[in-house]
Parts: sequence; C-alpha cells; structure tokens
Amino acid sequence: MSLTLAIVGRPNVGKSTLFNRLVGKRLALVDDQPGVTRDLREGEGRLGDLRFTVIDTAGLEDATDDSLQGRMRRLTERAVDMADVCLFMIDARTGVTPTDELFAEILRKRSKHVILAANKAEGAAADAGVLEAYGLGLGEPIRLSGEHGEGMTDLYAALMPLADAIEEKQAEDAPETDIDLDEAGETEGEAPAITAAKPLQVAVVGRPNAGKSTLINKILGEDRLLTGPEAGITRDAISLRIDWNGTPMRIFDTAGMRKKAKVQEKLEKLSVSDGLRAVKFAEVVVVLLDAAIPFEQQDLRIADLAEREGRAVVIAVNKWDVEEAKQEKLRDLKAQFERLLPQLRGAPLVTVSAKTGRGLDRLHEAILRAHEVWNRRIPTAALNRWLTAMLEQHPPPAPQGRRIKLRYMTQAKTRPPGFVVMCSHPDKMPASYSRYLVNGLRDDFDMPGTPIRLTLRGQG
Ligand code: GDP
Ligand code: GDP
Repeated sequence: MSLTLAIVGRPNVGKSTLFNRLVGKRLALVDDQPGVTRDLREGEGRLGDLRFTVIDTAGLEDATDDSLQGRMRRLTERAVDMADVCLFMIDARTGVTPTDELFAEILRKRSKHVILAANKAEGAAADAGVLEAYGLGLGEPIRLSGEHGEGMTDLYAALMPLADAIEEKQAEDAPETDIDLDEAGETEGEAPAITAAKPLQVAVVGRPNAGKSTLINKILGEDRLLTGPEAGITRDAISLRIDWNGTPMRIFDTAGMRKKAKVQEKLEKLSVSDGLRAVKFAEVVVVLLDAAIPFEQQDLRIADLAEREGRAVVIAVNKWDVEEAKQEKLRDLKAQFERLLPQLRGAPLVTVSAKTGRGLDRLHEAILRAHEVWNRRIPTAALNRWLTAMLEQHPPPAPQGRRIKLRYMTQAKTRPPGFVVMCSHPDKMPASYSRYLVNGLRDDFDMPGTPIRLTLRGQG
C-alpha cells in the first residue's frame, strides 16, 4: 500500500489536467466547462520513482444545500478523508477567490497533510496569484503548470518525504500481508492469492441502463457516484476502493459504456473503450444484465471478452424487483445462458435488485467464490488420479490407429487456472476431447465460472 493523494480545488483550476499527467492514462475527462468531471476518480500515479494512488475530486464548492454542488462538496470531503495527503490547487492566473479561502479553512481542519499548489503558473501572468497563495496560511505554494509539466520536481520533493513516512509506518503496522488466509476461504493446496492487503479487483460491466451506477451506489450505501437526471454527468472507467461486507475491493465502474444522448461526442469517444479496460484491470467481472432485456449482443460480447481475457465471471441479472413470474423467468435465463455463453458454463447467475438492494449479499458471496475458484490450485497428485479415471472412463481417440497417450498433468498457473497435459501427438488431439477434460475439471474440482486453460504438450 502506498500513499494516497487527493487533488482538490474548485472547478477549472486544472485538477484533471494534473491527474492525467500523473496517471499517464486518460482516466479523467478534462473540459473547459466547469464541473464536467464531477466524481471521485482514482488512478495509479507516478512521479519519478514515486508510486502512489491519486484521487481526482469534484470541485470544492461553497454550497451547503443538497444541490448537486452540495453533494460535490461532500464527495470532496470524503476524498480528503480517504487521502493521506491533499494537493490543494488554486488557479494562479485568477488569484485566490473567496471559495478558495473557505476551503483552505476546511482543509486546515480536516486534512493531515496539505500541499498547496498554485497552478497555471507558467509565465509571469501568474506571479501575483502565487504571492496571494502564501496568504492562505498553508505554507509555501508550489508553482505548478499541470498543462506544461512545470513544477513537477517541486511536487516530487514535497511528496517524497511523506511517501517515505507512510511506507515506513505501514511496514511497521503490517509486517505480514497474508495473515488472514485461513479465514479468507477454504482452498486446497497452496495459498490463494487473497491477502489482507490487496483489494479484490472487480469490474461491473453491462449495457447502458442496466443499472451499474445504481448497483455501485447501493453497494457504497452513499452517493459517491452521482446518478440522476442532471444532464452531462458522465464518467469513464474509474475505480473506487471500498469495503463491501468487510471485503476490501476495488470496483471499476464502467459507465463509460453508456450512451447518453446529452453527453458530448468528445466525452463519449474518450469513454468507449473503458469497459474493455476495466475488464483487463479486473480479477472478477460482474456482467450486469437487465432482466427485461437480457443477453443482448453487447452483453454477450463483453462476457465473451471477459472469458477470453481469463477473468472470473459472475452474471448478475438486475431489476429483479419488477419481474413477476420469477421462477419461470429464472429457468428461461439459465437456458439462454447455457445456450448463448457455453464458454462460461457454470458461472454463477445471481438475481439482484440494485434499487432495493435485494440479492446483493448473494452477489457478494458469488464474487468472493468466483475469485477463490479463479485462484484455486489443485495438487498434482489429485490431478493425476483424476486424469487416470477420466482416461478409463473415456479413452482418448486413436487417429490413424495410434492412440494418443496422456501421460501426466499438472497445474501450471492460477488466475485463471491453467493446466498442462503431457501427451503424445498433441497436434492430433481433437478439440472435443480437450473439452471433455476441461468440463471434467470444472465439475470434479468444483470450478464453476472460471476460464480454464488446458495446454497439451508433446514430450519430444
Ligand atoms: P478541473 O475542473 O479543476 O479539474 O480543471 P481541468 O483540469 O478540467 O482544467 C480546466 C482548464 O484549465 C482546462 O481548459 C485546462 O486546459 C486548463 N489548464 C489546466 N492546467 C493548466 C495550466 O497549467 N496552465 C494553463 N494555462 N491552463 C491549464
Ligand atoms: P447504468 O447506465 O448501467 O449506470 O444504469 P443506471 O444505474 O443509471 O440505471 C438505469 C435506470 O434503471 C435508472 O432509471 C435506474 O433507476 C433503473 N434501475 C437500476 N436498477 C434497478 C433495479 O434494480 N430495479 C428497477 N426497477 N430499476 C432499476
């Protein structure tokens, strides 16, 4: 675990621009309009040899009502609480505004460490604003130009001692990372990769309006993500660190797959591939379907992608609250699932209502279980006993009169489970026999819903 830095400041001072520079990937959207980036978003920041988590916040607003701006302010306060260090940014070209002052006060009270940055400081036009910034009582401002990359050395110098201190403290507090293994889940063989320190990485993907935002909000139990009728609210793939029923998770939200008519095309374009990116980041992919229109092309494509990328998959059927003939519907869904996504045979299918919260505990369980299976390691002896039995039950084919011999099998990797079978003439093995083995592994070792890779290797 490393330092977490929150970039805070009123809208348009250049937070997202700096975030993008630190993260180096286009995880945040930047626009001239104030307030386009309204959520907390998180990325892995780099500056020289420093690695840290960066949170980009909504603008700090002088608003106390329950309007959008009031919520934005609360979100920012939450980011401040999540962070080890706040980078408080002002616009040196505009100078210090009353809003800046108000929130400087909040930060003084609330934040452990504040780094003051006077941004847009390239050129002499910023000099007056930089001087004003001293008056905020938060120490010497760093002259920064997020856009031009100036002042990054000073930022590094300010962050480095804090990063070191945090790393030392964390090393003291947590000398062991994998202490809770026994409680994390029963797993045969070697230790699974679940550790107390590393959050489980989950992506929630699905078509626009499937209910992704509603679901994530419900899980969070708070309005960390903004949903609702306000025009132009959009996000790209961002991740949120949460403890869901006590399980540390990092959830990748992929509302970028939404197509909202009101959102400008530019923003859309930036967001299109986010669903795919989230799948790559994730360990477990939750494919969220709308019960009224399940298994549409787009759903199938993303589920297939998740399988091909080797992710554990959980199918969640949302809006179950509006279904009437639930039993029949569920039977239908299961039949469709088997027919349309045979490659994900046995993956858990959970019905939920993001709106009411029903089924979320089961979804949580399914995610943990899928993750556990994905990390499963089967001892070699057990595998080879199993292989012998499989061969007896259904001997391998004998193309051109020469029977293929399967000699030995081992699990070469986890996440997802990958197996190697040593055999004669691997090139002649029909796909159907490999499928027989993969399905057998799935059933006999209880590994539903995880991609299983089987490699045949000749023995020279
Ligand atoms: P945020 O709303 O605070 O996240 O601000 P943005 O990152 O969206 O930036 C707001 C505007 O300021 C954009 O037009 C940026 O191009 C511009 N901007 C950001 N950083 C700099 C900078 O260092 N210098 C100048 N001149 N403009 C900047
Ligand atoms: P996203 O585009 O996938 O993020 O979907 P949203 O979370 O914005 O939800 C789209 C619409 O579906 C909204 O009008 C939600 O209120 C509605 N919705 C989401 N989940 C449920 C649910 O479980 N039941 C019902 N009845 N409606 C839901």
